[in-house]
Order: sequence, then C-alpha cells, then structure tokens
Amino acid sequence: MTRPILARIDAAAFRHNYLLSRDRAAGARAWAVVKANAYGHGLLRCAEAVRDVADGFALLEISEAMQLRHAGFAQPILLLEGFFAEDDLQMASAHGISSALHCEEQLRLLELADISAPLEIFVKLNTGMNRLGFRPAELTRVLERLRASGKAAGISVMTHFACADGAGIDAALAGFDAVAAPTGLARSVANSAALLRFPHVHYDWVRPGIMLYGGSPIPDLQDAAQIGLCPVMTLSSRIIGVQMLTPGEAVGYSATLRAEGALRVGTVACGYADGYPRHAGTGTPILVNGQRTRTLGRVSMDMLACDLTGIDAGVGAEVTLWGEGLPADEVAAAAGTVSYELFCAVAPRVPVVAF
Ligand SMILES: *Cc1c(COP(=O)(O)O)cnc(C)c1O
Repeated sequence: MTRPILARIDAAAFRHNYLLSRDRAAGARAWAVVKANAYGHGLLRCAEAVRDVADGFALLEISEAMQLRHAGFAQPILLLEGFFAEDDLQMASAHGISSALHCEEQLRLLELADISAPLEIFVKLNTGMNRLGFRPAELTRVLERLRASGKAAGISVMTHFACADGAGIDAALAGFDAVAAPTGLARSVANSAALLRFPHVHYDWVRPGIMLYGGSPIPDLQDAAQIGLCPVMTLSSRIIGVQMLTPGEAVGYSATLRAEGALRVGTVACGYADGYPRHAGTGTPILVNGQRTRTLGRVSMDMLACDLTGIDAGVGAEVTLWGEGLPADEVAAAAGTVSYELFCAVAPRVPVVAF
C-alpha cells in the first residue's frame, strides 16, 4: 500500500473550461495561460487536452515553449515576461514563438539581436500594476524603434490589470486605450477576472488562466461551478487513524483545538509538505466519504486532523481536500489565500493521475 494521497487531473474539465472561456469572450482568440506548469496541473497534460482547439498558449519560459513545440504544438505561443537573454530570443525566432516586450533593455536586446526571422511582439504597457511594462506615453517611441529594427513580424499591445478582480479597470483601461486604440494594433488585456467581468475588453486576445483550472478569479465567488466552470484538480487522500477524545483533550501541535465534548478525530494523510496550506485553521472545509466536515487544529507536515463526529467513516475512508465536491477557493479562503496558490503548491511527492 502506498501513502494514499493523490492529485487527479481531469483533462476533459480543462478542455470544457477552455471552450467556455472562449465562448464568453465571443470573437476574441484565447491564449490558454499555462505558466507555472499549468498552475501545477502539468503543462503537457493540459495542452494535450486542448490540442485541437487552443488558439495559443501563454507561459513564461522558453524551455516550456520548446516543450510544446517538441510535442508538436503548432499554435502561437506567447512568452508573458518576454525574453531574458539573446539565446531566448534566437530560440523564439527559430521556433515562431511570440514575445512580450516590456522594457527598454528588452527592446535594445531585440534591436541588436542576430535572429533568423522576425518575431511577433506584444508590447506590454504598465497601467498601474507597476510590475512590468512601458508607460503608455512611451508607446509611440517603442513602436517607431520596433518598426525601424525590422525584428518584429507583427506588433500587438497588451497590459495586465491590477484590479480586474476588485475595484475595476476604468482608469487603467482609459490610460491604455488612449494610446493603444489609435494605433489600430491588436490588443490583449483580459485575464480571467476581466474576461468574466468586463466584456467590453475582450479585444483581440483574452488571456484566461485560473478559470481554465476551475478556480474562481472573483473573490466574491467561491464556487466557480456557479458560472459553469469545472474543477480540474481533485486532491484526495484517506483517513489513516482515528482518535476518540474526551472533553478537554486537544488535537495536534500546540494543542490549539480542545474538545468541548466527546470528539471523534480522523487523521488524514495530507500535510503542508504535500502542499496543503498550513494557514488553514480549524474549521476549514473538507469532505470525508463525500460528507462535508471541518479540519481541526494545526496542519502538520504530513497529516491533518478532521472532525468525524456524526460521520460514518473510519480508517480507509476517502477524503477530498479540494476539487470535485469542494471548491479549492473555499479552502483557499479559509487559509487566507487564493486557489492559484493551492494548485501551484501541490508538492512533487504527491502522485498525479490524469484521466
Ligand atoms: C497569469 C497571467 C494571466 C492569467 O491570469 P488569471 O488571473 O489566472 O486569469 C494573464 N495575463 C498575464 C500577463 C499573466 O501573467
């Protein structure tokens, strides 16, 4: 018997979510954002699920882009942070990989690069995230230099909103479109939150990420199934021990949870070394044999405790940490984070099965 923890990846759900995203962005093409090993779900596994329908893939590293090219994916691939050095640029040029261009240093690298063919360039503007991008006022000058360089096969303009999931995009969008719209170039601005909340900014390319994995991009919406998205990852394990506590006894490290009455405690083979968030305190939802209950006390490295009071389950009972039947966003909220982080944090020691 192996340790019972398992991450199941539902490729059909990924495909469903991709098609739904593109439907919602009617008319726009959709980059499937598969950075960070497809948000922890497996790059090739997810890409394969949309091989015949994906308009393109967006990710960070040239090595990931090359994995897709080597696996026979002919779609456009976009490097969201652009190239980091000349050899990235040469590789991108040789394999028809598109690139964001976000700073003066990249522009200079491109101007001086010895490349075999021009690239598709997405000029990235900073509209308030203040992470990457040229100031909108610089766009005209950047476009002039790009055109003069002869190194850009096609040029689009992109930005990434800081507050698409919250306060909104009005000011950022106004700043972007004041300079981008008059160029007549293709535009790409919408991540999952903007795609769902702001249909007027679908433009030419949308960039859904979290929604492809069935996570919610909107803080108020903890169950993405309500908008038709299906969970792609289900993290499951089993009960490996049961303890009967009498009133006053405690559970786990530092005895943070004390039994008020008789308490039947199940020990689950899943801890923070598997990627379960240690900040998920007592009361985080968890399913045992399909029934919803709560975690108890501190999460430890390899195990966590849950309340089996009133649940017909003993050693060997099936546990769902998140996924089918329990939105990852609910668990994330209990741990003060977002489903993105839970998915990306699933540890290499957790076996993965795809179906
Ligand atoms: C990660 C990323 C996305 C996808 O964001 P989601 O919130 O996961 O939809 C889109 N655009 C850029 C530039 C990104 O880095």
